[in-house]
Amino acid sequence: MIKRSFLGLAKPRLQYSVTVGTVQELPVPSKVILLLKEPQNGGRGNGLKVGDSVKTGQRLSASPEGVEYVISSVTGTISDMAPYVGMLGQKCKAITIDASGQDDWDDSFNKEPTLDAALKFFEYAPGNPSFKAFTDPEKSISAIVINGMDQDLLLTANQYVVQNEAADIKGGVDALKKMTGVDRIVITVPDNLVQQASTTGADVKSVSATYPSSLPHMIMKDVLGEVVLAGDSVEDAGVVFMSAEAVAALGAAFQTGQPCVTKIVTVVGKDGKTTNVRTRIGTPLKDVLQACNVSLNDRDRLIMGGPMTGAAAHSEELGVEPGTDGIVVQDETNSAQVTDYPCINCGECVRICPVKIPVNMLVRFLEGRFYEDARALYDLDCCIECGLCSYVCISRIPIFQYIKLGKYELSLIEIAEAVNE
Ligand code: SF4
Ligand code: SF4
Repeated sequence: MIKRSFLGLAKPRLQYSVTVGTVQELPVPSKVILLLKEPQNGGRGNGLKVGDSVKTGQRLSASPEGVEYVISSVTGTISDMAPYVGMLGQKCKAITIDASGQDDWDDSFNKEPTLDAALKFFEYAPGNPSFKAFTDPEKSISAIVINGMDQDLLLTANQYVVQNEAADIKGGVDALKKMTGVDRIVITVPDNLVQQASTTGADVKSVSATYPSSLPHMIMKDVLGEVVLAGDSVEDAGVVFMSAEAVAALGAAFQTGQPCVTKIVTVVGKDGKTTNVRTRIGTPLKDVLQACNVSLNDRDRLIMGGPMTGAAAHSEELGVEPGTDGIVVQDETNSAQVTDYPCINCGECVRICPVKIPVNMLVRFLEGRFYEDARALYDLDCCIECGLCSYVCISRIPIFQYIKLGKYELSLIEIAEAVNE
């Protein structure tokens, strides 16, 4: 998450980066680490074990019928399987695969674009596209939005794909229409990419380069003219969002018969310099940083994602995930520390909030763990998770993290209530 002092690196400007540049191709790493989520029902299965040989593009799951899976991004041998607790307590298995250095492709992926193939192979594709809404009888999906603008500041992976891989996006658009039956496909891009986007077969809409115009809820309001009700997801409103990188991966996969096993990542060094790299999913962060000549010292801050909405990573041994659009390294002296200072009611957070939440009041209830009151009285569910309130908070209260935690705790309550019904 970006805070005031991060901007010591450069003059504060909450504009998306629209200068794309090139992508540096990284070699196959010596090992990858893939996080396999544990099933919500607690079932563990015994489908994988240390010593198993795996092929590039192979679907790895705890059991043959397992819903949770990862796609092996290398050919090699599983050398370790360890429990791992991810963001907000998500239980995972960290699977380490020692790479042989040469790809032997698994052939179980079928080139026919079907929803079943998408569910089985592309929920772990770059950009983390989700196809579950298309099979949910309670949702009626009438449009797909391809986000060709990156969602956080400084990141340019998706814009790179629109600029350089429009043909693959077009293939993905055709596949999406065929597998979902949805005809209305929109691509949102900054003004400078309208021409490239017009070759993708999707309906092109331009979005402002001012943060947070590229967040799904903002696109719903500003581009589609629809307001998502508090507590609803964009899928509840009938729209599925996917990144340009995800749709290009889809198009390329159905063209080649090989699922995509790489991810484009924008690396932001301590001096604010950005480098785009394409690397195998699961590549240890330290390999990526090394390739970009970014050093990481004790007490530096390592962030997976963008500066506004990314999450701190505790180790550079973690692997690049399908949703890792950025890796940000902040020097200890330039990274703002959160505090336990009280809110001084300055109102900055309220003024900057794009959905006009009374954040100064909301944060008091979240700090006190009165999550249900925060939802009922102070619009917790309206938050679109832009992080702007944390960015401007003079007391450096970690508001954004409180909000994420509050929503997560409420989701646990809802699950427990549903189980007990
Ligand atoms: S993160 Fe903060 S500023 Fe952004 S929508 Fe939520 S409450 Fe408002
Ligand atoms: S910006 Fe921070 S200190 Fe100011 S009102 Fe909001 S929470 Fe309170």
